Amino acid sequence: MDQEMNYGSDYKYIPTTSIGSGVGIEVLPDLYCFTIQIVNIHLVGDPQTGDFVLVDAGMPESAEEIFAVIEERFGTGSQPRAIILTHGHFDHVGAIIELVKRWDVPVYAHALEMPYLTGQKSYPEPDSTVEGGAVAKMSPIFPNEPIDLGHHIQTLPADGTVPYLPDFNYIHTPGHSPGHVSLFREKDRALIAGDAFVTVKQEYLYKVITQEQEISGPPRYLTTDWKAAKESVIKLEKLKPSTAVTGHGLPMSGEFLSENLNKLVNDFDQIAVPDYGRYVDKDFH
Ligand SMILES: [Zn+2]
Ligand SMILES: [Zn+2]
Repeated sequence: MDQEMNYGSDYKYIPTTSIGSGVGIEVLPDLYCFTIQIVNIHLVGDPQTGDFVLVDAGMPESAEEIFAVIEERFGTGSQPRAIILTHGHFDHVGAIIELVKRWDVPVYAHALEMPYLTGQKSYPEPDSTVEGGAVAKMSPIFPNEPIDLGHHIQTLPADGTVPYLPDFNYIHTPGHSPGHVSLFREKDRALIAGDAFVTVKQEYLYKVITQEQEISGPPRYLTTDWKAAKESVIKLEKLKPSTAVTGHGLPMSGEFLSENLNKLVNDFDQIAVPDYGRYVDKDFH
């Protein structure tokens, strides 16, 4: 008997969207980024070979859209080898149970993210009091209870390798969540950053809707450790990525990316850290 999988009891459709919703971008021949409402999923793998991995699992109730996107790119009946989660927030695991039920593929996440993916621990409440706009204000409706993937979830290997993505390594980038990871491919310096940093001011509804490109720290309402978040951005900047796809916002590359990432590192306290909020350390600024 297959073990039951469950979403948290606060799981629900979130009625927020952006101009990019439903749009896919082929960032590299084997890196496809698709926006579901306000979050991105990534398909890593060459459509020529049909071999690919899904990174993150979209918004609640988006499974049918994800199936359609994948069939459109990789052909009818195609499925990934595995699903890698950058972290377990609701907007990155929103359709995971439907996906796993259909495909029966392994799901991987960092060891420190496991309590939130095995029904043991809720994420801290989203902070609606944090400096920011309408998305921050509406964040209390966001699900924060853990989902339970049972035996379908596995811990990423301790040596930094990524199952089914031999050219990638994962980098532990905590701060936004304890077990947050980013994926990096040395040979072309491609970075899948997750929410370690994003390219849209995710707290502001107007900017989310228009997807105006602007480097930003992790989404504020769910970030609880700003010191760690800063260290993580410093770590990623040191990799000198040539292309970055993020959990929210449009892909960035080349000079534009390096300049922006450099700016984010140098001015992290001003750009990323909110002036006020429940999880802001009074001594930080
Ligand atoms: Zn997140
Ligand atoms: Zn996110």
